[in-house]
Amino acid sequence: MRPMKTRTIDFSRYSSLKIGPRVDVTVIDSKEFDAGGYTLIGGANNLLISPTPPPLAMLDNEVFGFCELEADCIRAGGALKTGQLASFCRRHDLGGLEFTGNLPGTVGALVAMNAGMKAWETFTQLLWVDFGAGRVSAESIPHGYRHAQLPGIVYEAGFVRRSGFDRDLEAQFKAMRANQPQAPSAGSCFKNPPGDYAGGLIEAVGLKGFVQGGMAFSDQHANFLINTGGGTYEEAIWLIAEAQGRVKERFGVALELEVQVL
Ligand SMILES: Cc1cc2nc3c(=O)[nH]c(=O)nc-3n(C[C@H](O)[C@H](O)[C@H](O)COP(=O)(O)OP(=O)(O)OC[C@H]3O[C@@H](n4cnc5c(N)ncnc54)[C@H](O)[C@@H]3O)c2cc1C
Repeated sequence: MRPMKTRTIDFSRYSSLKIGPRVDVTVIDSKEFDAGGYTLIGGANNLLISPTPPPLAMLDNEVFGFCELEADCIRAGGALKTGQLASFCRRHDLGGLEFTGNLPGTVGALVAMNAGMKAWETFTQLLWVDFGAGRVSAESIPHGYRHAQLPGIVYEAGFVRRSGFDRDLEAQFKAMRANQPQAPSAGSCFKNPPGDYAGGLIEAVGLKGFVQGGMAFSDQHANFLINTGGGTYEEAIWLIAEAQGRVKERFGVALELEVQVL
């Protein structure tokens, strides 16, 4: 058997929350990889990494970082960065994926999280996914708000090929992002409960701007858990539990994490 490639990642630098240990991550360079026992990571823009994460693996960007046009789709590798996907669309005048330019991450995680902004979601543009054994239609993959039930690793994905990159829409997404906290975060900490807003609930229980050590719920946007400097995993977990506890007690609503804790 071929020895597996690894890459040492310092999650206190690599992850968007700037929290986590230095660990060796297995690098996947072929679709024959046996994923059993591994948790996939992309750019760690939606992850809170504990001091003792499970065995981690990531796609090799050299192999799975491609993007090309086929007759009826945009074919993208799972390791392709979202910014590169958006640039590709701009360059080729393709519409529908403008939102990916302001959504940090990789194509594999876009699919896994059904990531999106406002009404634009990954699955509205997704045609198929290759989990290693050919193309599976997106329609057959159970998915919903910020989640998808995947049978394996996203090696490649095919998106709708439609002409007309919308620069106004791109500017709107950019403006939305500019109004959000700039401190290290993982975006929204909790999913919005049906018919409600997690940020509003966190504010209502007095946690907007609440600080615990180096972590806080932003005073700009309560659903952003931010690292104000030197924040730790334990402080983040404490704030998460505090918000869930207070919101449950006051409103009977169970806040579900959008950030994945590993
Ligand atoms: C400032 C900021 C703003 C954000 N705003 C938004 C927003 O508006 N909307 C939104 O939806 N998200 C938002 N996010 C979250 C983040 O951009 C998305 O969740 C993105 O999809 C994460 O990509 P990643 O490559 O960093 O994935 P990671 O954080 O590394 O992983 C996320 C999940 O995807 C899985 N995964 C990764 N790669 C693969 C693969 N190849 N195959 C199968 N599973 C895989 C992981 O196991 C994990 O469960 C924001 C994050 C930040 C930091």
